Amino acid sequence: MGTVYLIGAGPGDPELLTLKAARLLSEANVVLHDSLVSREVLARISPSAKVVDVGKRCGKKLLTQEETNALLVDYATSYDVVVRLKGGDPSIFGRGGEELEALRRAGMAFEVVPGVTAALGAAAAAGISLTDRRAAPQVLFTTFSRGAGASATDWGCLTPTTTLVLYMPGPNYGEVAQRLKEGGLPADLPCAIVSQASSAGQQICWSTVDELASQERLPAPAILIVGRVAKRQIDGIAEACWQDFKEQTLERELHIS
Ligand code: SAH
Repeated sequence: MGTVYLIGAGPGDPELLTLKAARLLSEANVVLHDSLVSREVLARISPSAKVVDVGKRCGKKLLTQEETNALLVDYATSYDVVVRLKGGDPSIFGRGGEELEALRRAGMAFEVVPGVTAALGAAAAAGISLTDRRAAPQVLFTTFSRGAGASATDWGCLTPTTTLVLYMPGPNYGEVAQRLKEGGLPADLPCAIVSQASSAGQQICWSTVDELASQERLPAPAILIVGRVAKRQIDGIAEACWQDFKEQTLERELHIS
């Protein structure tokens, strides 16, 4: 019986891999990876390892989640070091939970090796401090729910001083802007689209919620950072933000009492 390592590959740049991830890639017998994992990271895998792409290609799923779960269990019964390699961090929009459950159910040994999630890679690329103390005391990593009943966004905890990082915003920026406004965000709130963070093709587009619809579409994968921190210069608004925050807190307290 081997061990399954659920490893975060980071946003693309292989230098953003943890030392542990790099070591395990060089020792792996089998690697099952998603399509989000960069070529440069895949190049770190031991040449003798069996490499399986279980990701999506051109919208076509290569393997279902159940098939991937079963493969992991299967490989772990015959190999020592089985790596499940996921873009960013396995615990953030990575279906890591389902795979861990399958491994637990099958009584397999496993270990999670965290990675740099896209939100942090993108913030670093854009030079944005997600919780800049002058503008945002909290940050929310989220995505639009898709599929059945997709219109509702459960952003009950959102305030004007929350930085929102939207994974999988999709290519339709007009729809994104609309849904952000429906979620209660002001039209003039700054935002930044970061495409291919930490890779050679990295691009950043600075905008506002309202102007988002007219921006040129950037290549996938892209992520959206929304909030007062999402601009190059946030000086001068600190006092207003702080005032807002205090008022909201007061409102909440009044609501409770
Ligand atoms: N587990 C991953 C997220 C998987 S969801 C993580 O922790 O990062 C896939 C989404 O992540 C993409 O649609 C995009 O919004 C974001 N993403 C992943 N890599 C990215 C990158 N290099 N630059 C910008 N966004 C990225």
